[in-house]
Amino acid sequence: MSTTEFTVVGGGIAGLVTARRLAMAGRTVRLIEASDHLGGTVASHLVGGINLDSGAESFATRGNTVADLARELGLGDDIVSPSDEGAWLQPVDGAALPLPSTGVLGIPSTPLDAQTIAVLGLGGALRAQLDSLIPWFGRRTDISLGALVRQRMGKATVEKLVAPVVHGVYSLHPNDLPLERVAGLKDRLALHGSLAMAVRSMRSAMPAGTAVQGIRGGINRLVTELAADLTDYGVIVEFERRIDTAEALADLDGTVIIAAPGILAPVHGRTVTLATLVLDAPELDAEPRGSGVLVAPNCTAVSARALTHSTAKWQWLKEHAEGRHVVRLSYNDEPDNLAEVARRDAEVLLGVSLPPEAVVDFARQQWIRPAALTASERTDGVVVVGETVGGTGLAGIVAHAYATVDRLLAPADEDRADDDPANDDPADDNADAAETRKAKKLK
Ligand SMILES: Cc1cc2nc3c(=O)[nH]c(=O)nc-3n(C[C@H](O)[C@H](O)[C@H](O)COP(=O)(O)OP(=O)(O)OC[C@H]3O[C@@H](n4cnc5c(N)ncnc54)[C@H](O)[C@@H]3O)c2cc1C
Repeated sequence: MSTTEFTVVGGGIAGLVTARRLAMAGRTVRLIEASDHLGGTVASHLVGGINLDSGAESFATRGNTVADLARELGLGDDIVSPSDEGAWLQPVDGAALPLPSTGVLGIPSTPLDAQTIAVLGLGGALRAQLDSLIPWFGRRTDISLGALVRQRMGKATVEKLVAPVVHGVYSLHPNDLPLERVAGLKDRLALHGSLAMAVRSMRSAMPAGTAVQGIRGGINRLVTELAADLTDYGVIVEFERRIDTAEALADLDGTVIIAAPGILAPVHGRTVTLATLVLDAPELDAEPRGSGVLVAPNCTAVSARALTHSTAKWQWLKEHAEGRHVVRLSYNDEPDNLAEVARRDAEVLLGVSLPPEAVVDFARQQWIRPAALTASERTDGVVVVGETVGGTGLAGIVAHAYATVDRLLAPADEDRADDDPANDDPADDNADAAETRKAKKLK
């Protein structure tokens, strides 16, 4: 008889937190991972001798889910906020401008403020202001974010403000982002009747401080600690085993939880290529574009869609880089000769000269960002966690995985007899081991 109660397929952040939660509840868990390492899109690479995140580099503070997880993993003292430096926008033509600081996903909460007028022009800003006069009849909300913003605030707001920001966050044009995927916006729109008001209300509901945070040393430290916890809690981890047929899935033991895109349906996602440059460029000490630049679609001056000046964004990284600068650019369509294109794009976007000799090191990393599973791709009774169902970003994915585990454990827990000694030992012993490890780390 099988002793594995749960098999989790996929060792990205979704699979890791799911396996950990189940094991913490005393369940026997096996985790199967196709590659030779854990973490999926939360990963690291060494560039110019600096260990850097090569995928996710921050988490949304919404709900405190990821910060609480980091604290549980003993990383509480290393949670950091980004610098106050705002981001900039590179319009289709002309010079970069500061991104208005009062919006959500680029949607302005005060369309007639000076920063928004600078980006949209007076005509575009007045059109956006019309949002406050157009009644909201609770029309169809199964539309894209782009369609909604266009209806309420006009095309300029979509293309000049929302598209660069949405692309930076989701690697998508707002026309391809279902409104449903923007947590909270639909409900607040129904409540307040205007998009600007909905955005204002979302901002006031955000926890004090920044909307995102990071971890000193990189988000990838979550994976190291989660992996150590899996060992402590007795999870069996199998590497280099790919589950990609219905038969292979059916052969797995216990309740199977899919935490890997591409098993229930082919991954129809977008490719994102990251170019990371470590630069010896004192001109960047002044941090000319704050934490980075978001690029308007159709901007022909550069091929990159966004640039993060990582050493301006994260103080810990600035200290760690010892005077060098880390810049990360993202591309939808990878250009030929990425290293050279990235250097030239960085020059344009940052507005400084960066000759080839300023480049200390360069790294390329390609990712596929999976689309959400459609209703027809979901199979009744199959448990799925991760980006294809939990939304983009660690906060949503972790919260969804927790809710899934709670749902899976609820009926079973009611049935498990408190006095069954078989239920006592493993969880308590494993929890003790994990606590001991964390206590040692805190010393
Ligand atoms: C460039 C980039 C930057 C990002 N930045 C941020 C950010 O700053 N903040 C944020 O919150 N989010 C960010 N994200 C999004 C976030 O990283 C992802 O949403 C999240 O990490 C996805 O986790 P996951 O576990 O669902 O999937 P994945 O990370 O994709 O993990 C899936 C795992 O399953 C394994 N697997 C795949 N197929 C199989 C199979 N057939 N059998 C067995 N195993 C399999 C894979 O090897 C992988 O380990 C970023 C994403 C990218 C690409």
